Amino acid sequence: MSVQVSLERMSEKVAAFSKFGALEGGGITRLSLTEPALEARAELKRRCEALGMEVASDDIGNIYATVQGTEDLPRFVMGSHLDSVRSGGNYDGIYGVLSSLEAVETIITEGIPHRHPLTVMVWTNEEGARFEPAMMSSGIVLGKFAKEKMLAVTETGGTVTFGEALAASGWAGDEKNRLNKKDYCAYFEPHIEQGPVLEEEGLEIGVVEGVVGMVNYDIILEGVSSHAGTTPQRYRKDALRAASQVILDLWGKLGALAGDLVFTTGEIHVRPNIHTVVPNYVKFSLDARHRDMAVLAQVVDVIKGLPQEVYGCKLSYEEHWGRNTIEFDAGLLGFVEEATQECGYSYKRMYSGAGHDAQYVSEMLPSVMIFIPSRGGLSHTVVEYSTPEQCAHGANVLLGAVLRADAAL
Ligand SMILES: [Zn+2]
Repeated sequence: MSVQVSLERMSEKVAAFSKFGALEGGGITRLSLTEPALEARAELKRRCEALGMEVASDDIGNIYATVQGTEDLPRFVMGSHLDSVRSGGNYDGIYGVLSSLEAVETIITEGIPHRHPLTVMVWTNEEGARFEPAMMSSGIVLGKFAKEKMLAVTETGGTVTFGEALAASGWAGDEKNRLNKKDYCAYFEPHIEQGPVLEEEGLEIGVVEGVVGMVNYDIILEGVSSHAGTTPQRYRKDALRAASQVILDLWGKLGALAGDLVFTTGEIHVRPNIHTVVPNYVKFSLDARHRDMAVLAQVVDVIKGLPQEVYGCKLSYEEHWGRNTIEFDAGLLGFVEEATQECGYSYKRMYSGAGHDAQYVSEMLPSVMIFIPSRGGLSHTVVEYSTPEQCAHGANVLLGAVLRADAAL
């Protein structure tokens, strides 16, 4: 077997960064650009500089720590985010940063020659838990969101804007340092799976082929409010009764489409939301995800085929937002798969059901992701966990894939 990362060093990294924003009883709250996130950034910088890497940031605080290669070639970049959701875990995002650092640290300390410069990267505010939306900085870099508009976003539940937090952080650097097509040629993002599939199937690695497409609709039912005590049932135009029926009908119809289609109603608004009043208005969300856009087109057909009236209530719908399925780079996928095989790890090719910075980056650079299992499939919770061995496996696959790409590209 080829060179391997250090299990001990990988575990030490995870433990060390788990302290920044640590909650009593486990897990972290490390919202973007808050004190614990700035402590984690400082620690990362200290560690990268100790390895002789040069640390820079761009105008939205994304961090790039680079070790030069032996040739004048564009850089490989690898990483993820270090912010968390409120009461999040010690792996989502930060695992991608720390496994990237461990892979590069192995290359540096073992003196492994590499032609391309190697950059470990941190994306600012991936979660969107403090400043909406999620994947804000990769979205700005890829032109999805206007920077000025994002700088003006006020934190959820507070008064500080993203621009103010960024200025106070000391991490606002030069726009010319942003990830770009000229200076970079490949992007790798290791991540925890955040779902149950790898664990359930007893597999060690997910070779991520892409990110599934999704559609997101709001479905609205409008009835008539009336007194809960004095209105006989037959006179009612109860929007919640109608919505309940529509949700169940949707479950039936969408459940009969492709078996691996996932769909969710996770948000519901009822008006007037008073226990003595028949609801006159309900709006609920419908999120559906599948890799095959033709299946998502069938979902849209089901929505468009809903009756215009249900129990006397008027039904309408609005498309909220959506995304097409993202396919990662076939060449990089090949390097990840070969590296996984060389390490002797069991694996499957799979799609990510969750969004990641890599999906935006893939529009600019050849990109790929590597998944490791999540215990119980749980993420965005304090009990999020992957074993030290699983963490090292992902870093080994990254290391192998980067060295293969370095030889080939
Ligand atoms: Zn993440």
